[in-house]
Amino acid sequence: MTVRVRFAPSPTGYLHIGGLRTALYDYLFAKQKGGKYILRIEDTDRTRYVEDAIENLLSAMEWSGVIHDEGPFLEEGKIVQKGEYGPYVQSERLHIYREHIEKLLESGHAYYCFCSKERLDKVREEQKARGETTRYDGHCRNIPLEEARKRVENGEAHVVRLRLPENRDATFEDAVRGTVTMNTSELDDQVLIKADGFPTYHFAVVVDDHHMGITHIIRGEEWLSSTPKHIILYEAFGWDVPKFVHLPNILNKEKKKLSKRHGDVAVGDFRKKGYLPEALVNYIALVGWSPEGNEEIMTMDEMIEKFSFDRVSKSGGVFDIDKLNWVNSHYIKKADLDRLTNLCIPYLIEDGLIAEEEKDLKFDWVKRIVKTAQERIEYLAQISDYAKRFFGEEVKLESEEVKEVLNQEHVKDLLNIFKEKVMNAEEINDEFGKKVFKMIQKETGIKGKNLYMPIRAALTGQLHGPDIDQVIVILGRENLIKRIEYVEKNYI
Ligand code: GLU
Repeated sequence: MTVRVRFAPSPTGYLHIGGLRTALYDYLFAKQKGGKYILRIEDTDRTRYVEDAIENLLSAMEWSGVIHDEGPFLEEGKIVQKGEYGPYVQSERLHIYREHIEKLLESGHAYYCFCSKERLDKVREEQKARGETTRYDGHCRNIPLEEARKRVENGEAHVVRLRLPENRDATFEDAVRGTVTMNTSELDDQVLIKADGFPTYHFAVVVDDHHMGITHIIRGEEWLSSTPKHIILYEAFGWDVPKFVHLPNILNKEKKKLSKRHGDVAVGDFRKKGYLPEALVNYIALVGWSPEGNEEIMTMDEMIEKFSFDRVSKSGGVFDIDKLNWVNSHYIKKADLDRLTNLCIPYLIEDGLIAEEEKDLKFDWVKRIVKTAQERIEYLAQISDYAKRFFGEEVKLESEEVKEVLNQEHVKDLLNIFKEKVMNAEEINDEFGKKVFKMIQKETGIKGKNLYMPIRAALTGQLHGPDIDQVIVILGRENLIKRIEYVEKNYI
């Protein structure tokens, strides 16, 4: 049996971080088993339709590197579907649902229901008042099919419902939760086709999973209680039931379901802040799953090798932003410098530190800044705050201690010599950055802390920070001189 799994998001406008994790587990499992990972768009709820949602979703998926084998893809801004089991967008599969609902109507597993919203509301209110669980009361269950068809032909508003067998246990195996059983008396005669002619999620999901040859259904635990209804549908069609894997929720630190109200949850938000896709994917894999050996930093290939549902926890995984930041800074340190620079430039432009037109001209210079930032930032949006130190000629002293360093007796001469070396240098490059201290030491005898500290203090207003020789090269001749003069004038 070839493993086939699917991620089936509804295009509601953005990709939730929990959705990315589901997609990732689909992907890891499929790759490990030599199977296929399918992306299907579940867009049958027309009331939730959002413009460009599919494009946004696909672009978030593409960015994440969790790439499907079949389904819709974005190619030059257009949606193109690939694979032999398509269409992969549910609103393009209406004829398939129509054909299948006919079968269920004929076999008696489904029936037309003509109850108005007012009637249903009334029934619900009455049930509530009696303290009963609210459910459809079966009012239209026994209308003969011929009669119902006539009413439909006459244009009467209707839905189609599943005829649940009475008092039957629906049982299935879940890879995370074990055996799950629910009695049909706890369930409702689920609507399968809505008044607008579109299928409900419950109907479309079963028809599509079957026709797309899905072997394992991996999804969020919010669907656990719907699965018995799906099982009844599989049985009604006489189809084999796939395996189920219901993943625990992603929780916030207060152990509540992670939601937009508590901060970022959209993959796009993390992208905007400058989380690297490999870091986000690595981290999110660990929210609810722990590999044997408890490694934390893993490449995609390592995750594919180690992934197993046995080690997915039943209780929800907690989303910990500090841990994500730690993982992200690890990947920032390792990332290719050109790539990182290209990713950092938009932040510098947005924050007004460099202009759009000078981004190519200043690339190498920015690259130097980014190199010194690699050890110091957790996500790329922090680059502007970090880079500010290299802009402008004013030097703000970080503390009284810096002032004390600058007011040592030898500092006046030291800064003068330094300034003179800068003025006379052929070029302020790496070689100069390294050599200048040796030259000054040789000429003046000042060395070690007495040499480096005051120069750092004068150039940056701080006693600690990035490599001083790099600071010198980044600041460049003009700014070096201006900063020294500013310090001489204001602090010494
Ligand atoms: N369309 C459903 C969702 O967005 C998919 C649930 C499933 O995977 O069956 O959550």
